[in-house]
Amino acid sequence: MRLSQYFLPTLKEIPAEAQIASHRLMLRAGMINQTTAGIYSWLPLGLRVLQKIEKIVAEEQDRIGCHRVLMPTLQPASLWQESGRYDDYGKEMLRIKDRHDRDMLYGPTNEEVITDIVRQYVKSYRQLPQTLYQIGWKFRDEIRPRFGVMRGREFFMKDGYSFDLTYEAAKETYKRIYESYLLTFRRMGLTAIPVQADSGAIGGDLSHEFQIVAPTGESTIYYDAAYDSLTKEEMTWDRVHGLYAAADEKHDPAKCPISEDRIRTARGIEIGHIFYFGTKYSKAMNLTVTGPNGESIIPEMGSYGIGVSRLVGAIIEANHDDNGIIWPDPVAPFQIGLINAKSGDPKLDAIANDLYQTLTKQGFEVLYDDRDERPGVKFSNMDLIGIPTQIIMGNRTLEQGTVEIKNRRTGERTDMSIEAWLNKMASK
Ligand code: ATP
Ligand code: MG
Repeated sequence: MRLSQYFLPTLKEIPAEAQIASHRLMLRAGMINQTTAGIYSWLPLGLRVLQKIEKIVAEEQDRIGCHRVLMPTLQPASLWQESGRYDDYGKEMLRIKDRHDRDMLYGPTNEEVITDIVRQYVKSYRQLPQTLYQIGWKFRDEIRPRFGVMRGREFFMKDGYSFDLTYEAAKETYKRIYESYLLTFRRMGLTAIPVQADSGAIGGDLSHEFQIVAPTGESTIYYDAAYDSLTKEEMTWDRVHGLYAAADEKHDPAKCPISEDRIRTARGIEIGHIFYFGTKYSKAMNLTVTGPNGESIIPEMGSYGIGVSRLVGAIIEANHDDNGIIWPDPVAPFQIGLINAKSGDPKLDAIANDLYQTLTKQGFEVLYDDRDERPGVKFSNMDLIGIPTQIIMGNRTLEQGTVEIKNRRTGERTDMSIEAWLNKMASK
């Protein structure tokens, strides 16, 4: 992408309304635009990140055999009257009437819609287990939308729903999704800490909020130091579920099973939540299947959320410095930021254009700053938007044929020939 032709409205001023780093940086980096309180438009740079996260989430769901669907954002009130939640849900639900005066709502979650779908098609035990998920927009009229996309009113969520024949099977599904969440977040460069959450009487201990550590988190979490060094191979239910983690008042130092010196205390951002709730919806909405002996079985359900749009902010909270965002490679909007520090110099322009085309042809996602701007402006812009690898071309490119490779995270700079760098990348 040539920056001269891109739509990247970066801001120099620090937006006054933004209280936390990720919100400030997302506005300054031209990723989002506030349409109204808690409701945002995603601009090209922001959308690229949102879609990378969406893709990772979808791949990891597909990998464990969940199937993707897409449900509508608008739902009839009648389904929520069936489940009994229409009156309970309160003011977070945006209620709307259509032209025929029928009560509708903008879905804050989709248990009712998915149960309605499944009950229409799934009639026999042979059709279960099944886990369906979608990635779509939700609306919750939060009393205090804040921190940009971290607590929006309209937000993008992965929501999955499982249907099993027995409690034991539902528990196995729950464990599988728990493990898959650990790996999903790891792919984004995050260590998620599953903290046991309230699940009411039915759920037992099968409800976890996945938290990541960042100074601006809304809750305080207390966790076993072992979390900080978990390897990918250790990301299993058996290993991780045994580790201590608790949030806010649930942590009671007097009752804590591990010693004080093994406890880490930090602020946590909730990026996902999984929940087993038995037959709550299947029972209320008459979802039953016929068992092997003709008996009727009420499927056991669970629901599994990931805050996809919240993750964009959360990843920035965990990855930034005074100069801007530092994207982990897998979610970076572009892999390479190419800076021509002497735009207008015909010789350098030609070499830079060439390199831009070569890299693009090789499949790299390159943001090429070809603007007629001062080098200082280009450097600070590239730092602000956080592209992991910068290639800087200037006088030395003309004199010695080398470019400067800058690692945005470490700040490390190396001079090398373009060929040497290309070879290095090819061998990765
Ligand atoms: P919170 O306690 O933060 O309000 P929740 O318990 O209401 O979250 P869930 O219903 O479990 O959230 O939704 C699943 C995920 O969706 C959450 O873990 C979070 O990452 C995300 N999420 C929830 N509410 C919002 C919101 N208002 N804005 C952005 N993301 C949200
Ligand atoms: Mg909430």
